[in-house]
Amino acid sequence: MGEKERFYVNEAFDTNWVAPLGPNVDAFELQLSQHLAVKSVVSLGSGTAAIHLALNAVGVKPGDVVICQSFTFAATAFPIQYCHAEPVFIDSEAATWNMDPALLEKAITDLKAAGKKIGAIMVVHLYGMPALMEALMEIAGRYEIPVIEDAAEALGSSYKGKPCGSFGIAGILSFNGNKIITTSGGGALASDNEEVVKYVRHVSAQAKEPAPYYLHKEIGYNYRMSNICAGIGRGQMEVLPERIERRRQIFDNYKKALGSIDGVIFPEEPQGFFSNRWLTTILLDEKVFEVGTNEKIRQYLETLNIESRQLWKPLHQQPVFEGCKSYVNGVSDKLFATGLCLPSGSNMSNEVQEIVIAELKKCLG
Ligand SMILES: *Cc1c(COP(=O)(O)O)cnc(C)c1O
Repeated sequence: MGEKERFYVNEAFDTNWVAPLGPNVDAFELQLSQHLAVKSVVSLGSGTAAIHLALNAVGVKPGDVVICQSFTFAATAFPIQYCHAEPVFIDSEAATWNMDPALLEKAITDLKAAGKKIGAIMVVHLYGMPALMEALMEIAGRYEIPVIEDAAEALGSSYKGKPCGSFGIAGILSFNGNKIITTSGGGALASDNEEVVKYVRHVSAQAKEPAPYYLHKEIGYNYRMSNICAGIGRGQMEVLPERIERRRQIFDNYKKALGSIDGVIFPEEPQGFFSNRWLTTILLDEKVFEVGTNEKIRQYLETLNIESRQLWKPLHQQPVFEGCKSYVNGVSDKLFATGLCLPSGSNMSNEVQEIVIAELKKCLG
């Protein structure tokens, strides 16, 4: 937490604004829309809820296909199932680890030829690294398929100066406890599209029609963010630039210390890409390190109470999505087999990071 979160939360108590609406909600939404340079942001209970409503908003219906990045957290795809739609998973390209435009186009062509209706494309900016948005948006535009951007890990990241979360018809954010800023739990949907925003505002608060009694014409959800959580978010937005700077510093420290070790690969920002470096991740080149070294290092660090983790297990490999169609090229499987997420918390001191680095050096030789 920064310095102001408690102030805004106390203010909510003092003024009795303890509800899923109020001045903190309005102010937090304004801060986010200014940050992303979009017309509107709706704050919600979670990033997962935001994805669910985004899919509804673009008209995804049962039986439709939703094309989804495979290399991501499962929450990107779970809402596709809530909509009774069919996920089709697309592997990553090696530069940003996000959706491969060539595979996307191949999937669209095949699915169209098979007579499928493609309801949406879910692109992710994983670990804060922007996806190849120009190429992806061009393809989606050509086939007139709405793009939903999962920017849950990418608040503060940008591609050619344009913020992640502002490219698609809807961008979604998460403020879960592990993200770059948090409201303890929470999410948001950003959009320039007035109909999308109007729909999300309406149904996220139980779809109450303007009438003196409870009148409903649509299925509603209880997905709004509380004014208490939004108070935390308000304070967190004030420290977001510091958080990004610190995460990038942490990445630079690791890279400076470990980047010259043979076989240790750090993901680079391509020209024009700006990553918030939510997590520092490394790959251990199979030509130098035995496959499985990442897990051995994780276990070793765990004995020292240092938390690290393997990269996301691709969704096309997840038991829950067994039988779903996928377009794979081996990239995400290799990332999972050889990658490691390093401790990256903004509040980790340089002294603590040096201990982590010293232990990693022992493992990496
Ligand atoms: C955290 C996360 C989500 C889900 O957000 P919640 O707020 O936890 O529901 C979705 N996608 C990605 C890529 C995430 O990292």
